[in-house]
Amino acid sequence: MILRARMVVPVTGAPIADGAVVVTGNTITAVGPFAEIRAAHSGDVTDLGERVLMPGLVNAHCHLDYTMMRRAIQPQRSFTEWIGRINALKRSLGSDDYRAAIGRGFSELQRWGTTTVANIESFPEVLNDVPASPLRTWWFLEMIDVRHQIPSEEVSNGMLAFFESCKAQRGGFGLSPHAPYTASGPLYEVVSETAAKLGMPVMTHVAESREEWEMFRHARGELYEFMLRLGRWMQDCHHARTPLKHIFHHSALGANWILAHMNELDDEDLTLLASIPRHERPSIVHCPGSHRYFRHAPFRLAKLLGLRMNICIGTDSLASTHSLSMFDEMRILADGEQWLNPADVVAMATLNGARALNLNAGKIEPGALADLIAIPHDATMRDVHASVIANRQPVAWMMIDGQILAH
Ligand SMILES: [Zn+2]
Repeated sequence: MILRARMVVPVTGAPIADGAVVVTGNTITAVGPFAEIRAAHSGDVTDLGERVLMPGLVNAHCHLDYTMMRRAIQPQRSFTEWIGRINALKRSLGSDDYRAAIGRGFSELQRWGTTTVANIESFPEVLNDVPASPLRTWWFLEMIDVRHQIPSEEVSNGMLAFFESCKAQRGGFGLSPHAPYTASGPLYEVVSETAAKLGMPVMTHVAESREEWEMFRHARGELYEFMLRLGRWMQDCHHARTPLKHIFHHSALGANWILAHMNELDDEDLTLLASIPRHERPSIVHCPGSHRYFRHAPFRLAKLLGLRMNICIGTDSLASTHSLSMFDEMRILADGEQWLNPADVVAMATLNGARALNLNAGKIEPGALADLIAIPHDATMRDVHASVIANRQPVAWMMIDGQILAH
């Protein structure tokens, strides 16, 4: 199949005017100017007309469980207060609510051009009967051990269903010790070892808030007091380590790790990241909408890019942002960091997220998976990557794994 479009954005190369992409099965086999592709390849031509053809978006950090929480929690005075609010909301919801939320989340992701999502799953029991979706989905099993709990039969059946269903669908699964304040050092150690042995990705929240920083660096603050009241063992907060150093102490951080947020990093943390050999470095997910909602400290993007870290973009959940559109996320990032090259923003929302999941996608080049979207081409904008970021139209054409989903 040959796809032709007014503009092709390969991400790994310069945009191609009147471009074409050859798809064979579920794989991209060629890309180039339409005239050259037509001369060298036979097959039906699907002309997408005045549109930009580009890789599908990769949402590298999402919590579909909370899709019903849009605007349910107003920004709070502190991160700890927000945790209190979301915990209260969660107590009022059940498995069917979460199932419905996941279904709605999938629809919204698809509507806005996401073809792959890295989703944190807090309630494995809902996966006994999870809504079907064509999206490539990585289910990261959330792990929390503040209090020792014996899983109910429903939860353990759910976990089994989780691993079974992951085998059957596009995507994969991983482990997600929630964050250093809710997952113990020993839990990180077990996860680290297991994931390395089984070749699984690991996602964790690190250094998200100032309060988390205060908790681990100085054994004080609102989050420290909150966790103490919950009965958490707090001795691990008395080593004056940063949250990142705490994780580093308990885990073999490798290329299979995805660190969400990383808003609170000091210069020593940056030195630590730089000391990891390039091919073994973890990926970092920035969530621009959620970052803005919480009014976190500025994300040290320029420094991290200077270190050549793999930076991806995620939406986080609708409990702390207003949409699951990666176009919105790209816009919030580009508006806040105007020095950024638009092409790099687009790469963060496609190629870099795929790289974090070790997925050969997020780009248009021979050998990559045929996960593609087409959006209207805005001829008034000179920079095609900037026009991609500016897109406010739902995505009417999408291909996942070589299959066209909608016209
Ligand atoms: Zn999160």
